Amino acid sequence: MRPYGYTVDRKATIADEALVIGDAIARVLGGESLRSIARSLNDQGIKTYNGFLWRSQGLKRILLQPLNVETGLVSEADHDKLKEILTDPSRRQSHRYELAHVLTGGYVRCGLCANAMVYRGTSYACPVAPAGCGRVRIGAPALEAYIRDLVFSLLTTPQTRAGLRRAESRAKTADKALKAANGRLTQAAVDYAKGDISRPAWLALSREHQRLTAAANRERRRLAATGHLPKPLTPKTLAAWWDKASTTTKRELLGLVLDHVKIKPAPDRRRPHDGSVDARRLKVIWLKLEENP
Ligand SMILES: [Zn+2]
Repeated sequence: MRPYGYTVDRKATIADEALVIGDAIARVLGGESLRSIARSLNDQGIKTYNGFLWRSQGLKRILLQPLNVETGLVSEADHDKLKEILTDPSRRQSHRYELAHVLTGGYVRCGLCANAMVYRGTSYACPVAPAGCGRVRIGAPALEAYIRDLVFSLLTTPQTRAGLRRAESRAKTADKALKAANGRLTQAAVDYAKGDISRPAWLALSREHQRLTAAANRERRRLAATGHLPKPLTPKTLAAWWDKASTTTKRELLGLVLDHVKIKPAPDRRRPHDGSVDARRLKVIWLKLEENP
């Protein structure tokens, strides 16, 4: 039996599998849940090396295998952060909510510590240490409605609609860049194993590769989500679509334009909560549609 991502002698990476590991690590660090990553691997038809479907536990074991650090596939700092995130007990409890709430998994981030906020009760909350700082919380229903309306108005501008129409060519460009990077990484793995390139050089390449993988996956997801959009694209058709859409599809729709929203702490805790969103607490970070991979 060989470790996923590596040859039997544990000395070289297997490019396709190293890609899966690198991408999944980047996504966990970005706040995505193991369950959601496993699901998207299964959706893409990527199998474990035994040919099975991915499950959270197996994926977790692979992402945390020490060989990833020993071979430089992941930096020590990232590995430590990953370990902290994946072994946080509050993460397990929040699991069953993760799919039910449209902004979980990295869309809502703490304005103090930048960690992904989790769904608790009827709020999004920054998880307690070590996963987060535990100091920020915001009501969920009003925030979700506010973000949904912002996304609707952005999606229906002429600029965004034109940008979405170019989704296919962007996905192709991102795939091409990733393919070239795959070639570079495979060669670099050989060079690194032979001692021809240094560890920092290997780490830099591997990080660049993670970035391109994330970009290509983002464009692929975007392209898939574009296909689900109602036609014509207006606030009204979107609202009708939203009411019927599944949480997964809703999340895909948000992901067309929304990177994440940062939540600042409430300025005055004593102020009675009237159920609306204090927009001054929010900083919305949009994706750039024409971003180069
Ligand atoms: Zn925090």
